Order: sequence, then C-alpha cells, then structure tokens
Amino acid sequence: MTTVEHGLSKEVELKYETVIGLEVHVELLTASKIFCNCSTQFGAEPNSHTCPICLGLPGVLPVVNKRAVEFAIRTALALNCKVSEFSKFDRKNYFYPDLPKNYQISQYDLPLGLEGHLTISYDGEVRRIGIRRVHLEEEAGKSIHEGSDIVGASYSLEDYNRAGIPLLEIVSEPDIRSPREAYVYLNTLRNILRYIGVSDCKMEEGSLRCDANISVRRAGSTTFGAQTELKNLNSFRAVEKGLEYERVRQIRALERGEEIVRETRHWDEARGVTVSMRSKEEAHDYRYFPEPDLVPMVIDREWVEQVRSTLPELPAARRERFIKEYGLPEYDAELLTESRALADFFEECVKGHHDAKAVSNWVMSELLGLLNAEGKSIEESPVTPEYVVQVLDLMAKGTISGRIAKEVFEESFRTGRMPGAIIEERGLVQISDESQLAGVIAEVIRENPGPCADFAAGKEKALTFLVGQVMKKTKGRANPRLVNKLLKDRLERA
Ligand SMILES: [Zn+2]
Repeated sequence: MTTVEHGLSKEVELKYETVIGLEVHVELLTASKIFCNCSTQFGAEPNSHTCPICLGLPGVLPVVNKRAVEFAIRTALALNCKVSEFSKFDRKNYFYPDLPKNYQISQYDLPLGLEGHLTISYDGEVRRIGIRRVHLEEEAGKSIHEGSDIVGASYSLEDYNRAGIPLLEIVSEPDIRSPREAYVYLNTLRNILRYIGVSDCKMEEGSLRCDANISVRRAGSTTFGAQTELKNLNSFRAVEKGLEYERVRQIRALERGEEIVRETRHWDEARGVTVSMRSKEEAHDYRYFPEPDLVPMVIDREWVEQVRSTLPELPAARRERFIKEYGLPEYDAELLTESRALADFFEECVKGHHDAKAVSNWVMSELLGLLNAEGKSIEESPVTPEYVVQVLDLMAKGTISGRIAKEVFEESFRTGRMPGAIIEERGLVQISDESQLAGVIAEVIRENPGPCADFAAGKEKALTFLVGQVMKKTKGRANPRLVNKLLKDRLERA
C-alpha cells in the first residue's frame, strides 16, 4: 500500500539542486474580522460569527480594520521588509464554496511589505532567506468534508465563521535548498510571529498554514526547473516529508527522461505520497483588479516608526544576547529563547538568582520537565520565577541538598506552596552539623565492612556507595559534600 520512494544514489544526488519557496498564511490575532465587526474567536458554533459583510451579501461596504494593517506592518518590519508608502486591496476572482463573494479581497501588485529577509541557522550554518512579500487578505470559510477526504467525500459543509478573519500571506524567495531547511525556516518564522504577538500560529487550529513550491535543477544551473505546488501540509513535519518525497519523485522523473508537469499536488499523509490535483493556476486566471469598495492606503511614515518602536527584541538577537550576557551555551540560549514567555521567565529568575547557568539548568530540566509531563506551556506554569529563585538560593546556601530541592520544587509545582514553607514544615533542612552526622557515619561504616575494605584497597567508587548509604539513612537531608569529607577522614584514619 505504502509507496514511499527511498533515497537516491550519491551520484544522482550530486547532479541536482533543490529549489524551494514557501507561502505561509497566518491568521492575525485581532479581536474582530478585517472588514466587519464579527468576532474572530476560534471554536464557536458554525456560522454564528457572520454578518452581511463577511457573507458578501449585495449592497454592503467593507471597512478595513486598522489593527490588522498595524499587525501587517509589524510583521513586515520584523522580517526586514520595506513597508510600502502606498498600498491597496485587489479582488482575486475565483469560485469555491468557502468563498461567498466569489472573490477574495487580497493584495496584488502593491503589497504592504516587500524585499525582506529572514536569517536561519542550523547545523552550524547560517543562511539568509529572502522574503518576497507580505500582504494582507481576508480568510475564506472552512469546508468540512463528510467522508474520508476531499476526494472521497459524499458532501461538504461550510462554516463562514472564518470568512473575513485577517490573514497575512508571507512569501519567501525560492532561496530554500532542502526540505530540512524549509522546516527550520518555518520554525524560525513561527517564533518571530509569536514574539511580536501578531498570530498564535497554531497549525492544528489552522491559524498557520503552509504551501510549498518545489523544483529541482541540474547543479550549477541558474534557471529554474518546472515547479509543483504542494498542498495539504498539516504540520511542519508534513512539510519536510512532503518536500522530500516530491524532491525524489522529480529527480527520478528527470532521470527517466520525463518532463516535470507544472501542477498542484496533494500530500497524502497516510500513504506518504503526493498526488496530482490540478494544473497550476497562473495569476491571470484570477483576473485581479483593484477593489472598488476600499480606498487605497497611504501608510504614514510616523505610524511605521511608532510601530517599529514597539517591536520586542526578536528571538535571534535575544539568543545572541543570552550567550554573551549570561555566558550560556548555545544549546541553552536556543531553547530558552524559543518562546518569548520562556525567555522572560528565565530573565526574571536571573534577576533574583545570579548564577545564570544554574537557573538555566533548573528551568530546562526541572521546570520544563514538570510542564511537559502535564502538557502545559510556560504561560500555564503554576510556579513563578520567585519559586525558582527561592529553591536555587536555598540549595546554593547549603540549606537543602539537590535531591531535596527537586522533591520540594515538585511539591511546589503541585500545590503552589513556596519551597521555603515546605522545607520548614517538613523539617527538610540539610544536616551540616558534623556532630549530628558522626553517629550515622559510624553506623554506615559498621554495617558495610566490604565497601570500607574496598576503599582502603584504593577503590574510590566504594566511597560513593558509602555516601549514598548516609544519604539514605538521613532521607537525603545530609550535606553530601560534608558527608564525603567526613567519611574519607574516618576511613583514612582507620
Ligand atoms: Zn461579519
């Protein structure tokens, strides 16, 4: 059943170069739609967020949502684009059941943002991917196909709640050279869009979607081969897998002396193949013309500068700063800056506890570990930076051992109680008093003659075992460094 095509020989691989361009659509996080006051809230009763404007009834007039334009400018700036001084909307004409007006209000020749770029880094390589354009348009409705898929459906239902939600189309230049690079580009782009707060980029709710154009050409060639467009890519992994399949399929066809047909292909996730859907439309098929119901937009430069001044530090810059300012390894900096909320959390902790690496370790392993186990994001964390600071301070001062710290932090996470309070109540303060430990140490030595003899014979490992026994007897409360020292003294004297 599955007909996944497998890898090509090294020799064939070297003969070709892959050329990929991505078109990403993101729904903007405005409260209302782009041309009417209907709510953009996800998950409402079908067709409850509609009005004559977003249903395209005759005689209505759209009015542009200023916030949507601001978000488009914000995105254009974050992607290093030029923001057009003069921009307008156009009608893109086509028929589809999810498009009640039979045209989509979009932008054709004068998009809001142009000629930007995005820097991606992976496997130690840094690459700049051009952004051809960023334009604003309206979302279509959502078709729900009754049956297995669009081809096998017996009927389809339409939900127009989505129709008219502001949508940004972000088109890259064909600068991407591998399916893996496409994956990294999408991740980087999503992080930026989330940082600047214009979209939640939830692929599972459809607020981020991606179509991919791919062609292959002989290595060294400067002209492009015929491209196919991939649709139905429902996750970043699907983008990577679909592109990989398509890349191999195209090279195989060329190797057989066939020509690549310019067409739109559907990624069949279950079978792991792309299937031909239709020949690819050209721009002229859409009969674009200026939208007569909306006035063109003159984008005030002061407004652009004001929007620029509200941009936060972007992920790449923040990652670099984390490396320089806190001396973090690249891995830590990358992970901690993936989301703005996580990076903020980390920095808030460092303000209270200055050992940045200790904070980083704790946040990455303990906190993220607990959050992941419950499927929660950092925004939903039941503990604040204050908790992390307290537990790290107590550990650094030697009041509690690392083992107790983990235990207490877990309890804080579950109950919301501060670590200090838990330690006091349960008497978990570390035992750093020599006289208090002397008795336990004597006991452990008496009970373990074998390991003691091993240590005397030069086996350092035996000491670790003996320390463990003391920790066990004190329920983790003994100061391990002190136990280590006391044990060694006793054994060497013996
Ligand atoms: Zn409406």
